[in-house]
Amino acid sequence: MHDVVIVGAGPVGLFLACELGLAGCSVLVLEREPESRSPFKAKPLGMRGLSAASVEAFYRRGMLHQLRTASGVPDDSDADPDAHEPFAPRGVGHFAGMVLDPAQVDVAALPYRLPGPAMEGMLTHLEAVETLLSEQAYQLGVDIRHGVTVSAIAQNDEVAVARAGGHEYAARWVVGCDGGRSAVRGLAGFEFVGTKPQFTGYTMHATVADSEKLRSGFHLTPTGMYLRPSEGHIAMMDFDGGAFDRSQQPTRDHLQAVLRRVSGTEVTLSEVHLASSFTDRAMQTTTYRRGRVLLAGDAAHIHSPLGGQGLNTGIGDAMNLGWKLAATVHGYAPDGLLDTYTRERHPIGAGVLDWSRAQVAAMRPDPHGRAVQGVVRDLIGTRDGTTYMFERISGAWIRYDLGSEHPLVGRSAPDLRLEDGTRLGDLMRDGRGVALDFSTDRCLHGSVRGWGSRLRYVAGQARNDLQLGAVLVRPDGVVAWAGERTPDREAFERAASQWLGSPEI
Ligand SMILES: Cc1cc2nc3c(=O)[nH]c(=O)nc-3n(C[C@H](O)[C@H](O)[C@H](O)COP(=O)(O)OP(=O)(O)OC[C@H]3O[C@@H](n4cnc5c(N)ncnc54)[C@H](O)[C@@H]3O)c2cc1C
Repeated sequence: MHDVVIVGAGPVGLFLACELGLAGCSVLVLEREPESRSPFKAKPLGMRGLSAASVEAFYRRGMLHQLRTASGVPDDSDADPDAHEPFAPRGVGHFAGMVLDPAQVDVAALPYRLPGPAMEGMLTHLEAVETLLSEQAYQLGVDIRHGVTVSAIAQNDEVAVARAGGHEYAARWVVGCDGGRSAVRGLAGFEFVGTKPQFTGYTMHATVADSEKLRSGFHLTPTGMYLRPSEGHIAMMDFDGGAFDRSQQPTRDHLQAVLRRVSGTEVTLSEVHLASSFTDRAMQTTTYRRGRVLLAGDAAHIHSPLGGQGLNTGIGDAMNLGWKLAATVHGYAPDGLLDTYTRERHPIGAGVLDWSRAQVAAMRPDPHGRAVQGVVRDLIGTRDGTTYMFERISGAWIRYDLGSEHPLVGRSAPDLRLEDGTRLGDLMRDGRGVALDFSTDRCLHGSVRGWGSRLRYVAGQARNDLQLGAVLVRPDGVVAWAGERTPDREAFERAASQWLGSPEI
């Protein structure tokens, strides 16, 4: 019997598998597709934008360099971070196709955004992400089986079982990472609620006979929206109330008719090489756990891909769940730790659904949509407006309510640097939490007595003066506790017990 069976070897299932493997759990991943490669995962249709929060997750697990290389992105992670000071974003992104100006971001309002290798998002593609994560998972001893379609789930107090093709795969926990049409979600009885679609979207790789008729970039038009990120790659949204039958492959004639309608041109598609459809249906399960079955990624929440948040939210789920599930498997999790997964991540999923709905509202090709666009354009013309958007798009808005008023607690930890040059992100590769102690001049690297296998101890002076005496960082990089100049040892130990369990004797 495995500790954990993960259903689905998409990016979220694989990220979670790595987290659990890193924490010493035995993990089996069951994937329906016989092959991991697919033209839908390669460029151009497989292109995905990773937020700074996701880039940070790869950085903290020592995978950022490989990810950048596999994605064809220049890697300056080893460059001197002082060269980047002060932090100035190079790109922000867009809201409903309205592109934001990075020069408008008020960096003074973001004091915890420290220079480091993971300050900004990046473009990648699913093939690069999945190949890297699969290789990492194999190295960590994860068993990944392809061509296995899970069709039944059973559970009792002791065990959860995934059934596929006459085989039973028993584990202490089953996690459904099986995407937007998740089988696990329905089989385990999760309630899935939300709003109906307003549009059908299409993404295609096509040859355009008269490409001068389409402009590059985003275009909100009186009849919809189209986006041309590169020659041959077109995405478009048709406000048809989600009427297109998505069990059908969209034909060239259909795609051409939609493109003509939303672009307002008589453009001709001479060949469609690859195409798929999506909608803005926005739905979320009411909980992410039922007994011994959990959900993560698109299995737990779906929404339109506008503004690229689905994969990022799923990676956030995996980072949040991995160490909590591992602590539960190993038996040292404090009471209720696993339930903090839903408590922390469900509001984030709900926020992302609303963010996507707000963009759909602003894109509607009618007087209501144009009125919202006008308001948004006014707002993003201001520093506060662009800074707010930057926080939403980069993931910097994410803060869990951990019951402390300290502005850092519940947020992703800044990439603090010690006088010896060590950066927090580099200290997190083994998946342990980190206790940073800035109250001494001596540089020390070790383990926290009592929590040695779960908590690294690093002492020294910080190069970044954030008026902190000590910080407790959870294995997912979230600040669990922060102390002033003279750290309060008792408060620190209470926080360590609350998140990492009782000390070892
Ligand atoms: C056009 C488009 C553009 C997008 N752009 C972005 C972007 O820029 N940024 C971003 O963050 N997000 C983006 N997204 C969303 C992102 O792609 C998804 O949120 C992400 O891929 C979800 O990952 P996942 O692992 O949860 O699910 P999936 O990637 O769907 O993986 C699920 C896996 O489970 C397997 N599976 C399904 N059923 C079973 C079963 N019964 N048994 C076994 N295995 C099963 C599937 O074969 C699949 O491999 C975009 C989406 C689209 C459609």
